[in-house]
Amino acid sequence: MFSSPPDAFYVYIQCHKCGEKLKVRINTLSEVSQSDKGAYFVQKEAMGTQCFCRMPFRLELDRFRNIKNKEITGGKFITEKEYRSDNKE
Ligand SMILES: [Zn+2]
Repeated sequence: MFSSPPDAFYVYIQCHKCGEKLKVRINTLSEVSQSDKGAYFVQKEAMGTQCFCRMPFRLELDRFRNIKNKEITGGKFITEKEYRSDNKE
């Protein structure tokens, strides 16, 4: 078992077009911005390696880096479990 380093966390995304599952690393130091209300957000774009579709997404975090809200275009968020379930077969 290993835990992610404190300066980064991961989100898991599945492409709507080809079904590819992606693991996207978010650097909490360079990629998390603070909003005017003191909350945090991430604005990033995931790109698949199969169909090269772009999936822009946005995460809203509280100050403890818990994800409060997430939006994505062109794909959907999946859990780490869903991401791994495919890779084992
Ligand atoms: Zn794709």
